[in-house]
Amino acid sequence: MECIVKDLEGKGIIITGATRGIGRALAMEVARRGANVSFNYLKSDQQAEELKTEIEKLGVKALAYRVDVGDLKSVREMVNATKKEFGQIDGLVNNAGLTRDKVFVMMSEDDWNEVLRVNLTGPFNFARAAVFMMMKAKRGAILNITSVSGLIGLPGQANYSASKAGLIGLTKSIAKEVGRLNVRVNALALGFIETDMTAALPEENRNQALGLIPLGRFGKVEDVAPMAAFLLSDAASYITGAVIQVDGGLAM
Ligand code: NAP
Repeated sequence: MECIVKDLEGKGIIITGATRGIGRALAMEVARRGANVSFNYLKSDQQAEELKTEIEKLGVKALAYRVDVGDLKSVREMVNATKKEFGQIDGLVNNAGLTRDKVFVMMSEDDWNEVLRVNLTGPFNFARAAVFMMMKAKRGAILNITSVSGLIGLPGQANYSASKAGLIGLTKSIAKEVGRLNVRVNALALGFIETDMTAALPEENRNQALGLIPLGRFGKVEDVAPMAAFLLSDAASYITGAVIQVDGGLAM
């Protein structure tokens, strides 16, 4: 029999970009641990409906919003509606993200702007909309999903590396501002995890990447979800400003 710890019982948690990949796994993990989940996505209406049903089957509340993370007005509306429904926002996971890989000399202004808009302005928008509620309640945890690309830089990812390094700066800066009000802000720096994002990598790049990973494999979404849930839980109450790597040893 599976033993599930209900360490997020009754908490209200927002997860961005939860229709696929890591976000979906995180949404299911926190719901299994007892949290009510509010999530958004960009275009996957059917997957959103399916996820909402899956979460509700676990006996907790689910809210799904088709909201672009880059649109501050819609983000505010989603966060306010979630607070009204759940009573409090205890956790926010800034997970939605995208890549537009190109060697730097070929990178267009559009490739740059779109990746920064989604990966960095998106987390700003959600944190900006939610953090004041957390400060008032004197409790809350924000978790930003960043990448080893933001720690060590990866070729072909100048836009993505810059956005993910920026997200680490945002994490630490907010953590220092709001720690005294018992609001924690952390980041997970992920290595290569099997999702649609990495499925798009050419075979040659996959093999090159595999050669750099001491644990000798790409990660699975299940390798990420428990650490994320832990950082949102009260068991992590003395951890803030941390950037924890879940990368198979890639960036040590
Ligand atoms: P994924 O499978 O491509 O899923 C991306 C999710 O984000 C989808 O639910 C998508 O919604 C949503 N999304 C994209 N743009 C959005 C926008 N503008 N507004 C709202 N939602 C949006 O990605 P993933 O691999 O799970 O990655 C999740 C996070 O982990 C990202 O921040 C990524 O940078 C980070 N990460 C991933 C890896 C990896 O190896 N996979 C490694 C390091 C870091 P739709 O379904 O509607 O399109």
